[in-house]
Amino acid sequence: MKLILLGAPGAGKGTQATRISDKYNLPHISTGDILRKNIKEGTKLGVQAKSFIDAGQLVPDEVVINIVNDRLQQADCNNGYILDGFPRTVAQAEALDKVAKIDAVINIAVDASLIVNRITGRRMCACGESYHISMGIGDTCPKCGAKLYQRDDDKEETVKARMQVYDTQTAPLIDYYTAKNLVIDVDGGKPLNEVFEQISKVIDDYNKK
Ligand code: ADP
Repeated sequence: MKLILLGAPGAGKGTQATRISDKYNLPHISTGDILRKNIKEGTKLGVQAKSFIDAGQLVPDEVVINIVNDRLQQADCNNGYILDGFPRTVAQAEALDKVAKIDAVINIAVDASLIVNRITGRRMCACGESYHISMGIGDTCPKCGAKLYQRDDDKEETVKARMQVYDTQTAPLIDYYTAKNLVIDVDGGKPLNEVFEQISKVIDDYNKK
């Protein structure tokens, strides 16, 4: 199954994508994770992307489109995948249409008032897990023991810029995919497990077809 997770920053796309990936054995493709890995490793791509990410702006379309096109050609994508954070603009969605036939777009809707608290309280682990300080976690990852950290772009000022970018550039994708009859709405204001169940049901129904 070829799935897109759509939603504002802090909607829970990354958390849900990690869980779905484990449960259904589908590769989790996060353009944000790929870009951050390149920044950490100091690659040319990372240097190019860093200033955009730090400002809460989008990395140019042609850069991310190339990344995703390369990734989708790898053998593990033959039976499907979960796209998290891509596409983020109509131009990216049009480019994706040229190389893939998407089966469903899950739109994780969340109230704007929840977002800033969710993101500024977010703590990440290199293993791919993420947590919220309200979970009562310590400094290390309960799953693997590595030290948790806050993403540089999870500071309040940057979060506001990211929300604005979402509204103007990414939200139009809801209409784009609604016109193709692909959108399934999920209530991202619910607890993580409930959101996960809603998404699992979408995949189970698809697999029964
Ligand atoms: P979130 O969904 O929490 O905003 P991501 O990890 O998906 O975070 O993305 C972080 C940043 O990486 C974005 O603010 C943007 O700068 C860049 N980025 C990620 N994916 C894309 C994309 N498809 N197009 C352009 N920029 C992207």
